[in-house]
Amino acid sequence: MSRTDAPTTLPVTLTIAGSDSGGGAGIQADLKTMAACGTFGTSVLTAVTAQNTQGVNSSFAVPTAEIDAQLRAIRSDFDIAAIKTGMLATAETVDLVAEHARSFDCPLVVDPVMVATSGDRLLAENAMDAYDDLIAHATLVTPNTDEVAMLTGIEPENERDMRDAGERLLDRGCDAALLTGGHLPTDDVRDVLVTLEHVHTVTHSRIDTVATHGAGCTLSSAITAYLGRQSDGDDGDLRTAVEASTAFLERAIRYHHDVGAGPGAVHHAV
Ligand code: PLP
Repeated sequence: MSRTDAPTTLPVTLTIAGSDSGGGAGIQADLKTMAACGTFGTSVLTAVTAQNTQGVNSSFAVPTAEIDAQLRAIRSDFDIAAIKTGMLATAETVDLVAEHARSFDCPLVVDPVMVATSGDRLLAENAMDAYDDLIAHATLVTPNTDEVAMLTGIEPENERDMRDAGERLLDRGCDAALLTGGHLPTDDVRDVLVTLEHVHTVTHSRIDTVATHGAGCTLSSAITAYLGRQSDGDDGDLRTAVEASTAFLERAIRYHHDVGAGPGAVHHAV
């Protein structure tokens, strides 16, 4: 068989998330990132947003029966190495995904997407409570400081608050929490990884740009890809997956795309 005929086997990853028609965040960011990080990305679409670099104009939640059908199609055919959730839009969808998560047998990264940087809501207000059940099945939860405040009631101002909030999330049953510090006014960006055994701060450079659209989706997708590669044979643990992914995100922001009339978007193929 010639080199061009040789089949390639990559670990299969899955994103359960919403579409960003502008291509910078959501399922589009997830699939580009999963490919850039060496996995074969599959997707379950939960919502369709009409969105560009300037904001979200409208949002349509995919009916849960159709989300269930997508999940069944993927799960019955692929050997999935790692899964992430992003925008889930409604309480019914969070419940459905939590129900499926009971029988996932690979790492699950939960990015609790609630409000876009533009200020637009991406999760119904009555869906907060439903997250409890999903968090209980997560390998890792990746909230930013706004999401941490909504999930735990702690508004983090420093690393100590982030650690306390992370411990609260662990009390709700997840194995680990990565609290991202990009929104805090520090010189460097410090993300705090809290696990049952350790608290570890990952520090990286703050890039002076407003083009951070898609940063959260890109980070959680990169972690999913690295965890998927580990469950498929690569060496490493959660901490190495997180460190590789924050380095990936730093490059994604440094080499951001200056697209659209709004602030632009991160670059997912770095
Ligand atoms: N749109 C969708 C579909 C998303 O999933 C997300 C974030 O997770 C966003 C928009 C918001 O992206 P950002 O807050 O990075 O602008």
